[in-house]
Amino acid sequence: MGMPELPEVEALADFLREHAIGRVVARAEAGSFAVLKTFDPPLTALSGRVITEVSRHGKFLDLRCVGGAGAGDDLHLVTHLARAGWLRWRTDIPEKPLRPGKSPLAFRLVLEDGTGFDLTEAGTQKRLAVYLVRDPADVPGVATLGPEPLADDFTVDALAAILAGRRTQIKGVLRDQHIIAGIGNAYSDEVLHAAKMSPFKLASSFTPAEVAVLHEAIVTTLTEAVKRSAGVAAADLKGEKKSGLRVHAKTGQPCPVCGDTVREVSFADSSLQYCPTCQTGGKPLADRRMSRLLK
Ligand SMILES: [Zn+2]
Repeated sequence: MGMPELPEVEALADFLREHAIGRVVARAEAGSFAVLKTFDPPLTALSGRVITEVSRHGKFLDLRCVGGAGAGDDLHLVTHLARAGWLRWRTDIPEKPLRPGKSPLAFRLVLEDGTGFDLTEAGTQKRLAVYLVRDPADVPGVATLGPEPLADDFTVDALAAILAGRRTQIKGVLRDQHIIAGIGNAYSDEVLHAAKMSPFKLASSFTPAEVAVLHEAIVTTLTEAVKRSAGVAAADLKGEKKSGLRVHAKTGQPCPVCGDTVREVSFADSSLQYCPTCQTGGKPLADRRMSRLLK
């Protein structure tokens, strides 16, 4: 179902707020050398710390772990689940230490009461990343995030300023984490369907009225997805995401708004889905990659 985006990561953060806050870390283990992107402080520095806060930055999860030395003695365990990663909460963490290898198990956090979580990653491409830092801004992907689209300061004017003069397609703008945080391939398709706009429309071409429509679509689509995901168990979030989508990953199925057939076209390193009747005046978008191959 693709990468967890803002609503799913927010739901995971919410789940961890309920289950992990106030608990003491026994140990943290990396399933491979590649998964841990930092080396100072070491993972052993987490042992004995209390999880006091769980937050989300774009698609990053951030667990604040406070030590005994008082104010300023904070560490942040930050993770990005990438395309195929997931978090599995466990009440039955094995005593045996993790054996690094080819298993999908990327990382494990064990709490002193025997609960904890595994971060798993399916597939052969291993992109899941874990960082242990003193400040979340020490994580490069966090430091360069654009504004949070559900924050109060993400106004119509703020979006207008983001789009102005940008001669790139709106689909690419929406899923660029440096421009707006937390929206990926799935929710950018959903936002553009809700806004009834072509994914290929140039950002610089938006009129003030169109900016307002897009802003409304971003906020409504994400807010509804966050509401649907809230309280859903970590294990069930992927299914919840899938059932809430209208066009993303629905190629060949009827658009729930107009009944036209949802179509797919290649975009950057993947593909996007859209409804021609709702979004492109009934005209299918030309697949540039395909026509280039046919030349
Ligand atoms: Zn439609």
